[in-house]
Amino acid sequence: MSEYVERTFVALKPDAVKRGIVGDIISQIENTGMKIVGLKMVQATDQLLEQHYEEHVDKPFYEGLAEYMKDGPIVAMVVEGVHAVDNMRKLIGDTDAREAHPATIRGQYSHMSMDHADEAGRLYRNIIHASAEKDEAEKEVNIWFEEEELQDFEQAHEQEVR
Ligand code: UDP
Ligand code: MG
Repeated sequence: MSEYVERTFVALKPDAVKRGIVGDIISQIENTGMKIVGLKMVQATDQLLEQHYEEHVDKPFYEGLAEYMKDGPIVAMVVEGVHAVDNMRKLIGDTDAREAHPATIRGQYSHMSMDHADEAGRLYRNIIHASAEKDEAEKEVNIWFEEEELQDFEQAHEQEVR
């Protein structure tokens, strides 16, 4: 495999599932030409989230983040493609919807800012997660997926784009 072809972990958070925008978001990922090689609906647990958000566990927002992430099922995915980690981060947009470009997934489907959520005493919801770095991607894929849950297949367009 080319060193530029990467796998990254993506999660459609409980608000995306409840709002019924999972199909739209998956279409946007597929439209890039990247390949979904793992896909399942999962209920997050404290154990999974403490591993997944290891760097945030001691931060003041963690309790609310864990409550948000356990608020319903998530759709967990592994996305493969050329520079998949950076490409998925570009596609999802900045963490705070206030900063996210309107063409990104967070920019299209949310307008809440972290400041407003804090002021209103609400959980901050931002639709989607994607790993930020290649090392983080490998770690997160292993947390959420078993190797045998990942599929090996060729896309119809693969000869043209990779
Ligand atoms: N988050 C939050 N308040 C904050 C920072 C982060 O609620 O002040 C939540 C938010 O859902 C974010 C997640 O914690 O997506 C992880 O934060 P990170 O800084 O890693 O952002 P991401 O990688 O998701 O863009
Ligand atoms: Mg992050």
